[in-house]
Amino acid sequence: MTAHYQVHGQVAVITFDNPPVNGLGLATRLAVAAGLQQALETDAVQAIVITGAGKAFSGGADIREFNSPKALAEPSLHTLIDMVERSSKPVIAAINAVCMGGGLELSLACNYRIARADAKIALPEVKLGLVPGAGGTQRLPRMVGLEQGLNMIVSGNPVSADKLAGTALFNELVAAGQDVLAAALLFAGKVAALRPLPRVRDYTIDYPQHQAFLQFARNNVKAQAGPFPAPLKCVEAVAASVTMPFDAGIRFERELFFQLVQSAESKALRHAFFSERLAGKLADVGADTPLRAIHSAAVIGTGTMGAGIAMNFANAGIAVTLLATGQQRLEATLAKIGKSYEASVKKGRLTPQALAQRMALIAGTLDYQALAQADIVVEAVYEDIAVKQTVFEKLDAVMKPGAILASNTSSLDLNRIAAFTGRPQDVLGLHFFSPANVMKLLEIVRAEKTGKDVLATALALAKKLGKTAVVAGICDGFIGNRMLEQYVRQAGFLLEDGCLPQQVDKAIEQFGFAMGPFRVADMVGIDVSWQIRQRRYVDKPDVVYPKFADRLYDLGRFGQKSGAGWYDYRPGERAAQPSETVNQMIVAHSQELGVTRRQISDAEIVERLVYALVNEGARILEQGIAQRASDIDMVYLSGYGFPLVRGGPMFYADTVGLSKVAAGMAGFANGRHGESWAVAPLLARLAAEGKSFNS
Ligand code: NAD
Repeated sequence: MTAHYQVHGQVAVITFDNPPVNGLGLATRLAVAAGLQQALETDAVQAIVITGAGKAFSGGADIREFNSPKALAEPSLHTLIDMVERSSKPVIAAINAVCMGGGLELSLACNYRIARADAKIALPEVKLGLVPGAGGTQRLPRMVGLEQGLNMIVSGNPVSADKLAGTALFNELVAAGQDVLAAALLFAGKVAALRPLPRVRDYTIDYPQHQAFLQFARNNVKAQAGPFPAPLKCVEAVAASVTMPFDAGIRFERELFFQLVQSAESKALRHAFFSERLAGKLADVGADTPLRAIHSAAVIGTGTMGAGIAMNFANAGIAVTLLATGQQRLEATLAKIGKSYEASVKKGRLTPQALAQRMALIAGTLDYQALAQADIVVEAVYEDIAVKQTVFEKLDAVMKPGAILASNTSSLDLNRIAAFTGRPQDVLGLHFFSPANVMKLLEIVRAEKTGKDVLATALALAKKLGKTAVVAGICDGFIGNRMLEQYVRQAGFLLEDGCLPQQVDKAIEQFGFAMGPFRVADMVGIDVSWQIRQRRYVDKPDVVYPKFADRLYDLGRFGQKSGAGWYDYRPGERAAQPSETVNQMIVAHSQELGVTRRQISDAEIVERLVYALVNEGARILEQGIAQRASDIDMVYLSGYGFPLVRGGPMFYADTVGLSKVAAGMAGFANGRHGESWAVAPLLARLAAEGKSFNS
């Protein structure tokens, strides 16, 4: 049963009971409608209370039903809302906790609302690229005012119920921890006989300068919405609450909702929303897998990654010990961490107390014995298998039984690292991205013998650290960097064929990437990528790599850090200026290669870069390195600046159509370096069958 019906004296209580958030899916709607019917037909019932079981009033519509016939199956949310609003007996929403989306819209159709002061109230539809579609844009502003309503609907952010105390939304607020149902039953007794029944639709919004305000809102929202249409449509829908009669406003809101629900942008956002939740689940690791307790952590290495990883633990309230190779390095690293927190305090993002608490959680040591009792240790030392061996042998000797031993390696074989210890079941990869305290993505690398409880614990820990975790199997570069290698190769070939760095960057940035490959390279450091390439030349002698970047390295053009890389940089500035020197060298390089440079369209640039990601993604999927296409999308959305509005490379390929993608690749295969365009077998098969990656 997804909703319960009970009678308390003269009051019928309908309780949503559809864990985890009492989503208003078809089964719940049917049960609520039946409850309402019963209450209306029972003479002894004088009033109706609607409330939620467990941790929510209702999290809203069941978004899994969107774009499916179930969303419209009767009773639809609209029908249910109509039933509530037309009820001849007073209906009271007893908002016990989270009340969002369709849940809030349903409560707005009730005659009265009583909420717990700490209940989270929101219309978050905009975050999925939608406008609220069940009257929220018309009813909420009538209760909380035009400005507050607009802010809530355009931002989608939750507001604590007590922050809405001065508005007409709640008839009563109950202190946090108090029983809201008991209060609602008392309230029901008081209002049972009152007529006429108050209805939100009968209110009007009094906002004399509303046209000027709405124009101001449109301008602001337009400037901030980027490629997403929903925020501006939210403004238009809210505008209707003051410029149109109620029923016309409802019809207008519905039209906007149906337009948006079909839009590519909303589909991409919903895909990202579900992908993130799915990524934390492993097919062969059940939800009931026992977790290991993580109360303390250790980090080895004080380079680029070590400090940021340690900060992650401290930020999550987990005590962490940082091991360095020398006292000076240790002190410098602790000071660097302190400075980073101080910068956050200056920006108002952290309180001085929180800074003190976090610093108190971070200890430093030079001695492995001081780590022995840690529940988890993350190694972030040089990317050199011999150094990793020394470290893991030491860890094996000192760490308490059951401690998780993690490596932050970007490319080394985790099975080999695990074999340096006598406890391979406790070893896995935790691949953080730089800067580790900022980047959301965490690739959890599963070695052959990694224990299921260790994986489950790592996934739970990632959540605690605020990371988006994706599980990857073992291969060079795991998911993200392995695909990136192909993207960067194509970027290099584009230069040989006729492009300049600024053209490539501009095209892919217009597609929506945060930064193009050459601006990224200048930021990361051309010396860093040089090192990686030298190893690849040896490891993969059969693969053709564009070699021009090595010339920049030879000239000491290391990127932003040296004031020159693919671009020039004015002293003290980070803005990339196209470099005449580099551009001439690129043209000369093509001549040396015997390539006649040609005009290349932005569309071709985007296709070559993105299809290179897709093709390698398909191989990764087929080899089981990634569990599902949506995991690959999450890696690119949360770690590589792939445009959210496109839903990730695999989702984007689905949107284009896999047969079109495969045909595009076949076209590129006729050009230079055609061998890099062998269509991945999985992609070829899905394309031939008319299927998609994310189905
Ligand atoms: P780094 O060169 O900046 O720092 C390495 C640190 O390891 C230094 O502090 C060094 O003193 C310490 N170290 C070396 N040998 C040691 C030993 N025997 N015992 C203890 N400490 C030792 O390197 P980094 O960029 O921080 O990378 C560390 C690891 O993280 C590598 O495996 C790398 O592949 C991985 N990684 C790096 C990035 C990145 O963007 N830099 C991103 C993801 C993963």
